[in-house]
Amino acid sequence: MENQKVLHRTNKLNSQSQIPAIFLDKDGTLIENVPNNVDPQLIEMKIGAIEGLQILSKAGYKLIVITNQSGVARDYFPESALIGVEARLNEILEKADLSLDGFYYCPHHPNGVISEYAIACECRKPKPGLILRAASEQNIDLANSWFIGDNLTDVEAGHSAGCKTILIVKGNQSQPQMSRLGIADYILVNLSIAAQVICKHSVSNF
Ligand SMILES: [Mg+2]
Ligand SMILES: [Zn+2]
Repeated sequence: MENQKVLHRTNKLNSQSQIPAIFLDKDGTLIENVPNNVDPQLIEMKIGAIEGLQILSKAGYKLIVITNQSGVARDYFPESALIGVEARLNEILEKADLSLDGFYYCPHHPNGVISEYAIACECRKPKPGLILRAASEQNIDLANSWFIGDNLTDVEAGHSAGCKTILIVKGNQSQPQMSRLGIADYILVNLSIAAQVICKHSVSNF
């Protein structure tokens, strides 16, 4: 009986100290999609990204990038090139008083040409491996976290990890048709709108 009480109290403490996060796809969501780019100078934030991150950061969410970088396995660029990408992203965000809480990437691809990266891993989206790793390293409350991405593999990864999801679509895509798929919790046009929807959603749920 006494043990059960202690256990219960511990669980409560753990859940209280967990922090919700916004998991962000990089290419086509946070920054303009330039396929396989690792040139820091070509990194350009998407419309609404800075505003969206400011809203979410103020609301208390951790901001964590989750990105597939199979260009490493395919030998398009070395893994070390991603250090420059992360640094440039942080440099841009710092100017807006923002910072990332994590930058997690999957360098693998089953058809890669570099053998150490040519594996069917657990971290390439749509697998939730990177999200789960971030969650355990940073004590994240997955049920109150969101995954925002521009690809259905982002949505699938987010849902597999137990998060809510937002699919970012280009203005010219047929939204009603995508909505009928019923896969993402919301289908929206940019990160700024996504942030507003998340904040409204949180208020109505607490
Ligand atoms: Mg993307
Ligand atoms: Zn991987």
